[in-house]
Amino acid sequence: MESHATEIDYEEAVKVSRMSSAPRVLVVCEHASNRVPAQLHGLGLNAQHLASHIAWDPGALEVAKGLAARVPSVLIAGNVSRLVYDCNRPPDAKSAIPEQSEIHDVPGNKGLTPFERLARVDAIYRPFHAAVSKAIREARDTVELMVTVHSFTPVYDGKARTVEIGILHGSDPRFAAAMMACRPDQSVYDIRLNQPYSARDGVTHTLDLHGPVNGLHSVMIEIRNDLIQTDEAQDRMADQLAEWIEDTLHALENGGQAQ
Ligand SMILES: [Zn+2]
Repeated sequence: MESHATEIDYEEAVKVSRMSSAPRVLVVCEHASNRVPAQLHGLGLNAQHLASHIAWDPGALEVAKGLAARVPSVLIAGNVSRLVYDCNRPPDAKSAIPEQSEIHDVPGNKGLTPFERLARVDAIYRPFHAAVSKAIREARDTVELMVTVHSFTPVYDGKARTVEIGILHGSDPRFAAAMMACRPDQSVYDIRLNQPYSARDGVTHTLDLHGPVNGLHSVMIEIRNDLIQTDEAQDRMADQLAEWIEDTLHALENGGQAQ
């Protein structure tokens, strides 16, 4: 008898856009999409939940695209909801296929067999990270930095968050520290290091998997999603981030090796 899991068509798990022939920056957006393959019946969630931050990072893809259009880059974006598989989590993490997100149960993730979990790892996680590795390999002569772009909800578990932009690092803190030092003077945003999450929350898997081993600088940027709801706001954010990242790369170059 054939398992139900083999019938699921996950389609394209990752989208890669090469924006430059000599990319300096790899822009990665793991939580770009809230797409749930039809055979998973929305994981038992309603349309409102599937449109909300629990399923993806609203606005993050548009900002990532804007950033990728402004710096020589390759853009890599997830094309499946993080509730199906969260590409910023290793396969052994419980949160990779969450049974609960914030306060919401995810019925379609409960009681999965090891085979069903593995099918999602093979269909989503592996192609995503293979695409990141391939992009780094193809751009190894020019790429210096990996930036992952995320958005977070202004209210989590009933609590308001005041931080507006979080600069997070994994095991290599250099680029995040340099970005904090290069914060735009005129920025109106409340910018914090390692908030509203940090590596301790297990959110730096992509950075740590691909950054240090390839000799790349790496940083994760978390933007409060109420700041990037319109095309204009997304454009403005992409403008600011592009300038800020260019300034930081420049400062690191001028200062020689950081640290
Ligand atoms: Zn995210």
